[in-house]
Amino acid sequence: MSEDKKVSKRVLSFFLCLIMALLSFVLTSCNSEVKTETAEFFVFDTVVNITAYGENAKEAIEAARDELYRYDALLSTTNENSDIYKVNNNESREVSAETAEIIEKSLKISELTEGSLDITIYPVVELWGFTGGNYRVPSESEIEEALNFVGFDKIFLQDNNVVKDDPKVQIDLGATAKGYIGDKVAEAIKNAGCNSAVLSIGGNVVTVGTKPDGKDFNVGITWTDGKEICATVSLKDMSAVTSGTYQRNFTENGVFYHHIIDPKTGYPAQSDIGSVTIFTSNGLVADGLSTAFFVMGSEKAVEFYENEKYSELGTDSLDFMIIKNDGTCIVTESIYSNMKLNSDCISESDVTVI
Ligand code: AMP
Ligand code: MG
Repeated sequence: MSEDKKVSKRVLSFFLCLIMALLSFVLTSCNSEVKTETAEFFVFDTVVNITAYGENAKEAIEAARDELYRYDALLSTTNENSDIYKVNNNESREVSAETAEIIEKSLKISELTEGSLDITIYPVVELWGFTGGNYRVPSESEIEEALNFVGFDKIFLQDNNVVKDDPKVQIDLGATAKGYIGDKVAEAIKNAGCNSAVLSIGGNVVTVGTKPDGKDFNVGITWTDGKEICATVSLKDMSAVTSGTYQRNFTENGVFYHHIIDPKTGYPAQSDIGSVTIFTSNGLVADGLSTAFFVMGSEKAVEFYENEKYSELGTDSLDFMIIKNDGTCIVTESIYSNMKLNSDCISESDVTVI
């Protein structure tokens, strides 16, 4: 090879290296430049965290915040201007179309779960102090009296009017509204032009699209103590809603009391379940069923699933992970195939896949 050719080859390879280096620099900086916005709000008596990615991340957070506050004002049991407050205090029977939709769907879940979910539980929840945080153990006679006004057959919707059997019947959407709102906030985020976000409303996680790199989001499932992550699941455009005793509870005279009430007894549900997470694309269904499954216990929950009762709620697939108080788990097959167990917390032999 002539000296000239050798030089031009060296120059060429130098430029090639330079181009590669520049390209990799551009690619890395593009990647690290994915705009990320995070925000925390306190609504529905719980903490909401949102992370949004991409060009419209800021707009997405703003849209999400507006929706969160709007629904809080509509559905809160304590806000004097809310639909629910007015119905509970007999100031008005008429509710917005959205409130009516949540009530209607919640009543349907009550029917299918034979009253394990019951949005008329409010008089009992209030007695236990789970609404305001002034926890106490009510007397048996107080519970008996309050139970006279609990029963999903004690209310019905006529157009957008809530008709009650008795003025003392009161509604609590705590078990279903967060799921519904999660879906609506996800919609608002998408409408703001953001296709990558994740939000957590109390125990509810909603994923919007995928991570900025196109991969599914990894969502951690906590153990029944609410601390250790016992499994991670990869999800996209999906809600993961957990009901567990760790979320709200107190101990008095050595007895542990939690916030998920058995509507038949008025006491915290004596369940073999420590926590249950439902995975489905409809947040309200996920939320309603997580509470209902907890109250039903694992055997009835599995029966409900195997009989495909959820299809009557307009959702064609349902997955769940039940963590029982004895440390064993029941997980549906298709979510199990997307799940990584934390072996420090659960071993495969403790999991029954159905
Ligand atoms: P969740 O965290 O979705 O399981 O909902 C629990 C919340 O819903 C409680 O804090 C109460 O406000 C309310 N609640 C408790 N037990 C029930 C029940 N059996 N049916 C409907 N709502 C309930
Ligand atoms: Mg729920």
